[in-house]
Amino acid sequence: MTLAEVIKSFKMRWDTSKIINSLEKTANFCDESENYLEENNSGEDSKNNNPYSNLVSSQVISPRVEGISQHSDECLIKLSNVWKIYQMGEVEFAALKGIDLEIYKGEFLVVLGPSGSGKSTLMNLLGCLDLPSKGTVFLNSKDISELDESELALIRGQMIGFIFQSFNLIPTLSTKENVLLPLEFQEEGAQLSQKKADYLLEIVGLSDKKQNLPSQLSGGQRQRVAIARSLAVNPPIILADEPTGNLDSKTGDYILGFLDNLNKTEGKTIIIVTHDLEIVKYATRVVYIRDGLIEKIEQKKKNEPEENN
Ligand code: ADP
Ligand code: MG
Repeated sequence: MTLAEVIKSFKMRWDTSKIINSLEKTANFCDESENYLEENNSGEDSKNNNPYSNLVSSQVISPRVEGISQHSDECLIKLSNVWKIYQMGEVEFAALKGIDLEIYKGEFLVVLGPSGSGKSTLMNLLGCLDLPSKGTVFLNSKDISELDESELALIRGQMIGFIFQSFNLIPTLSTKENVLLPLEFQEEGAQLSQKKADYLLEIVGLSDKKQNLPSQLSGGQRQRVAIARSLAVNPPIILADEPTGNLDSKTGDYILGFLDNLNKTEGKTIIIVTHDLEIVKYATRVVYIRDGLIEKIEQKKKNEPEENN
């Protein structure tokens, strides 16, 4: 499929998360390790050519902004007594059992829990990709159950960039086309979109891989494409489900360092759901989840050594 065909096949404008959702079924990449880490660390050149810098609300990958506090009091996402009950024939299974959680601007929130604890279910609800069985989800103070599909798609598309464990790139599109995809739903000039895609690929160190298909990239490179794509519309929130789950630890550290930098320098809100205790060291707050319930919430100073739990 070409980029034009892919766009045509997804009629719902702006609904990038829906697209990404459906990709889960097509993307199936194996684990790989790699040795690129010395290659690129967002060179200064790229910062002089930032196509996002003209936008009023934008700070994407701008030069370091010092002094952003750990988080503000601005609540971006709020879950109020949220339940998710899966129906399997006659049997009901409660994957989330009354979650109350507020996410603030500028946080690096890690939701930590074992397999089956409800993390991905929670991520789908935090990302407004799914509706709760009971309870309320607010995105930017709006009760999402009161929005129609296209309103929700619009606000979600502008607010949240998604990163998935299996990367969810479109296998038939090049690296650059994958990054262009969310921009195609923004109705902005093709030239600006091209510039943004080039810029983001430079930032993640993949300028020389623009024409490669996902199958011609290593696992870490695919995840960097996914990060570039998640940033394309410059959303204030990046939501990641086990973003390092298919990467070796060195590559995983690189990816997390990148997200950490986005949080510190751009004030982007990062939400990661994971079973990996290692990720806790990046968090400003940790939500421990088990059997669909929040066990405890821990406020941290960033990069503070972990408690032994
Ligand atoms: P985690 O991401 O923490 O591993 P999930 O959110 O994927 O956990 O799943 C939580 C629980 O809900 C698990 O017991 C899982 O089997 C169940 N579950 C998840 N999705 C569905 C579904 N679509 N239908 C039925 N049960 C589901
Ligand atoms: Mg999961």
